[in-house]
Amino acid sequence: MKVTVLSGGVGGAKFVLGLQHCEEVDQLTAIVNTGDDFRHLGMHISPDIDTLLYTLSGQANATQGWGREGESWNFMAALKALGGPDWFNLGDGDLALHVLRTQRIEQGHSLSVVTADLAKAWGIGASVLPMSDDTVATWLETDEGALPFQSYFVERQCRPITSAIRFEGAVDARPAPGVLQSLADADAVFIAPSNPWLSVDPVLAVPGIADALRETSAPVIAISPLVGGKAVKGPTTKLMAELGINADNEAIAGHYAGLISGLLHDSADAPPLSTPARSTATLMTSLDDKVRVARAAIVFAEALKA
Ligand code: GDP
Repeated sequence: MKVTVLSGGVGGAKFVLGLQHCEEVDQLTAIVNTGDDFRHLGMHISPDIDTLLYTLSGQANATQGWGREGESWNFMAALKALGGPDWFNLGDGDLALHVLRTQRIEQGHSLSVVTADLAKAWGIGASVLPMSDDTVATWLETDEGALPFQSYFVERQCRPITSAIRFEGAVDARPAPGVLQSLADADAVFIAPSNPWLSVDPVLAVPGIADALRETSAPVIAISPLVGGKAVKGPTTKLMAELGINADNEAIAGHYAGLISGLLHDSADAPPLSTPARSTATLMTSLDDKVRVARAAIVFAEALKA
């Protein structure tokens, strides 16, 4: 079957890796958030795309939750010694990826072409598509003023209190090549258990993508990022509280109202009443967990289709 997933970084990559190991999936496309992309030290950095590429090629650092396994840090040490900015860690191998991507983009190649070439070089069978080749930047309105995503997330460790989130450039952005087609052609569409406000909303803000979800004949299933009423990682529930939203599956389903046909959620949490739902243990630690959650999503999609 053909499966298309909207994905952020870590939560999304774990789910997409599970799908990559399901034999019933013969065409897998991930549409990835690029609202977190930024320029740093002259380089174009695409954190969520990189998390997908590292995870799907078996290079992701499992303990750290970002970057590569077996990384060395000579560049950061040298940068720090020179008084350079050290709030965003760049491993030596990771750096090679950013340098290469930046050079290719400056030569006129699109982010989607560069991403496809990187995926090919690492033998990744899935299509990893940026949501757009145009620049979209996530900004948070906080008690410390307006902050670009990485300043909020990495530099200030999600401490500021958020009152609003916006996606600069989204209204003029076009979906990257293949994005709308993969949603129209899919047998099942999944919204990964990524942060709905920071990782999935930027994707949905690109004109045409939300409409493609409404128009596809495939079931659209979101996987809840809540496990036992809490986010597994990151600021999802902190943000929900600050935005005045209850941290429950009713709120997650409500957030995607009109776009999804079902919500797959953790067995420890109550289902939403507003949306068809199924539960399983959704915490993805081992590869077996990831495959199990992916398979539960596929079975749910098939049931909704029938
Ligand atoms: P980021 O861009 O790296 O922050 O990644 P995402 O937005 O893709 O992932 C963050 C979200 O993933 C958080 O809301 C987590 O609760 C959720 N998440 C991470 N791991 C898991 C997991 O194993 N199971 C579920 N259900 N959610 C997860």
